[in-house]
Amino acid sequence: MGGREAPAVGVRSCRRCGGRFTRERPLVCRGLHGQCYDHARAVGELHRYPVTRRTIDREEMARLEAAGLSTGEIAERFRVSPGAVRVARHRLRRGGAVVPGGGS
Ligand SMILES: [Zn+2]
Repeated sequence: MGGREAPAVGVRSCRRCGGRFTRERPLVCRGLHGQCYDHARAVGELHRYPVTRRTIDREEMARLEAAGLSTGEIAERFRVSPGAVRVARHRLRRGGAVVPGGGS
């Protein structure tokens, strides 16, 4: 390998406790362990740890979808993975539009 590295996430250790991310203690959000994230949120320090990942603008994504772009094309626009686009779309659908007859 070598050479080409994914530039999206450059966080290897927790920004709060400095510990490495492992399977038992994975990176959850904002470059933090789940526990550290919860703690930071609880004490109101979440703003100290800005979001590390590129975000997908929902309105922009809806526009691109309406324009007929594929998932892959939209992913390229936002420079994220197609999977991230699918997740964002799913959230968009759930949060943005009411599904008729779709109870919980
Ligand atoms: Zn941590």
